Amino acid sequence: MPDYQKIESAVIHGGIYGDKTTGAVNVPVYLTSTYEQSGLGQNSGWEYSRTGNPTRAALEALIAELERGKAGFAFASGMAAVTCVLQLFRSGDRVLISSNVYGGTYRVLDKVFLQFGLSYAIADTTDLAAFEAAFTPDVKAVLIETPANPLLTVTDLDTVSSIAKLHGALTIVDNTFMTPYLQRPIEHGADIVVHSATKYLGGHSDLVAGLAVVNDDSLAERLAFLQNATGGVLDPFDSFLLLRGIKTLAVRMDRHVGNAEQTASWLMRNAAVKRIYYPGLPRAQGYELNRKQAKNGGAMISFELDEGYDIRRFFSSLKLIALAESLGGVESLVCHPASMTHASIPCEVRRRVGITDGLIRLSVGIENWRDLRDDLEQAIKESKVK
Ligand SMILES: *Cc1c(COP(=O)(O)O)cnc(C)c1O
Repeated sequence: MPDYQKIESAVIHGGIYGDKTTGAVNVPVYLTSTYEQSGLGQNSGWEYSRTGNPTRAALEALIAELERGKAGFAFASGMAAVTCVLQLFRSGDRVLISSNVYGGTYRVLDKVFLQFGLSYAIADTTDLAAFEAAFTPDVKAVLIETPANPLLTVTDLDTVSSIAKLHGALTIVDNTFMTPYLQRPIEHGADIVVHSATKYLGGHSDLVAGLAVVNDDSLAERLAFLQNATGGVLDPFDSFLLLRGIKTLAVRMDRHVGNAEQTASWLMRNAAVKRIYYPGLPRAQGYELNRKQAKNGGAMISFELDEGYDIRRFFSSLKLIALAESLGGVESLVCHPASMTHASIPCEVRRRVGITDGLIRLSVGIENWRDLRDDLEQAIKESKVK
């Protein structure tokens, strides 16, 4: 076990570091499906790569350590991680979700799990009285994101997880937007953390992956069983790429956040901007709460332009910032939640929770900030309706 304490070192040296056989400082990519057994009933601890693979195991140990949990699990996508975690529950159970969860999470509950009798209810987790009132005896889990996608609303992790516990429900936190570098939900009472590692953890928009971390041994055993039984595992090469991405998580996040803070204050001062959502701004909903449970406001910003601006023209005028789904890569990306990431949420639900047709979501990358500002400035100018 290397001697380190801080997360900046743990992202590099944590989990299963290097290779004991050769001294290689990187975990090798074990491109193998199976492992030779020396005799009947005798194996080296590895049997078959759906069940376990050394490259994936290094990643799983690393994410468990970074999130301060008991065990980690790597999946072929964020949705495979969410799906596997939801399979911990059974027909007749209900999951409470916060009002703006990732569209795909809503979709898998509404279109897949509901068919098998696992139901869901939507609760405003920023209004603790409303949240508490949403508990029915069948609620077995609470699934939240904070800051939530795409309005960056902040939920009190300590309070929500202790209310859930009182009702005998598990707390599941999707920590994709913050990463363990900025926020560690298990330290605030969460039982399970899930990630779309496609985003900041991978960090380079070159892979699709999901992770889950649990805080107790019995959950670890059940999730290991489900991961092997259902088989949506991450392959060795993407496990390697993700280990490689995580090594620079701390330096990337510092730059992402620095750029986001500058962008948010620039947007706030811009007369063309009608509304801005960024939990790092002192005026934002949940600013104080976010400071209590996270290192800072992260690097996702949502905003609306004033009526005199055409957002179609805004999107098509951007030159450096690409219009694309996803977030958390080194390059800045912009998206239109109503027609892209949140299109699977019915229009009336979207409107009720504030995801308007004019909402723009920006994933601030690590480019030079002045280049980002110049691109936003020229696109805003171009989009002004004459
Ligand atoms: C992207 C995303 C997911 C889904 O992850 P995939 O890797 O795309 O399957 C889940 N939750 C959040 C918050 C996301 O941004």
